Amino acid sequence: MALFGGKFKKGLSKTRNSFFKRIFSILRGGKLSKEDIEEIEELLISADISIETTEKLLSRILETKSDPLSELEKALVELLSGDTSLNFPAIPPMVVSVVGVNGTGKTTTIGKLAHYINKEYKKSIVLAAADTFRAAAIDQLKIWAQRTGADFIAHQMGSDPGAVAYDAVNHAKATGKDVVIIDTAGRLHTKFNLMNELNKIHRVVKKIVPDAPHEVLLVVDATTGQNGLVQAQKFKEAVELTGLVITKLDGTAKGGIAVTIKEKLGIPIKFVGLGESLEDFEVFSAESFVKSLFEEA
Ligand code: GDP
Ligand code: MG
Repeated sequence: MALFGGKFKKGLSKTRNSFFKRIFSILRGGKLSKEDIEEIEELLISADISIETTEKLLSRILETKSDPLSELEKALVELLSGDTSLNFPAIPPMVVSVVGVNGTGKTTTIGKLAHYINKEYKKSIVLAAADTFRAAAIDQLKIWAQRTGADFIAHQMGSDPGAVAYDAVNHAKATGKDVVIIDTAGRLHTKFNLMNELNKIHRVVKKIVPDAPHEVLLVVDATTGQNGLVQAQKFKEAVELTGLVITKLDGTAKGGIAVTIKEKLGIPIKFVGLGESLEDFEVFSAESFVKSLFEEA
């Protein structure tokens, strides 16, 4: 099996088995009764697809002249589709900033992303430990750097995150590395300062690479449902995001949250986390995602 591709089916098994398997069997059953429609509505909402989106999906199913199952699949693919490409600049280094609330999976995602970019694009990577709030956060990123063969730039705990990012980008320039990935803090109780801190990191890296950051990826934990959506909206208001990473899809039956977040934020989902290890990670594909929801065991 290829290193990347084909992991959606396993990662989405909880969502499939809890809700979509049933939707599949109802829609395959032929003519839809009022009860069938009500049950589909309940199942979609239970999977964390918003009420408005559920209503849109139901009218597509009811109005279609072709097969309702294919129509639902098509509608979901349309809702989830977006540009997943990474914005590699003509002149390296590329700067990727990874933001999100504590515990959503930022540091883990950075390890996976470093591995992915290194394997898929043959690019050399620098990881920047700009979550300087906890010593453990710095150590955790260091382990991912060792695992993935990336260079690692950190300062002492409590130091200025902007200075860490600045040093990392300078290091990449000086040593000819292709990509800098910046890990950031996610302490929500100091939300106002967090957003300032993130914007400061972004301003500081511009001093070396004027068009940086080339990507600002917001990590959202799928298991936090509507709460995760509210957090994501706050980040969107405060920081210029280029893409979403939805993590822990393997840990929830409510994978429909991906549809809701994409629709409400209007930002493409670029990657998904489907487990805790280095390779439990995929470039997002609306087609594979939707296909996995309806695939038979
Ligand atoms: P951070 O605080 O945002 O940096 O989050 P971490 O990267 O430290 O991750 C928090 C926890 O979530 C860790 O125990 C990770 O192993 C776990 N985690 C991260 N991504 C995934 C995922 O896609 N699936 C699962 N099941 N666990 C994940
Ligand atoms: Mg972290």
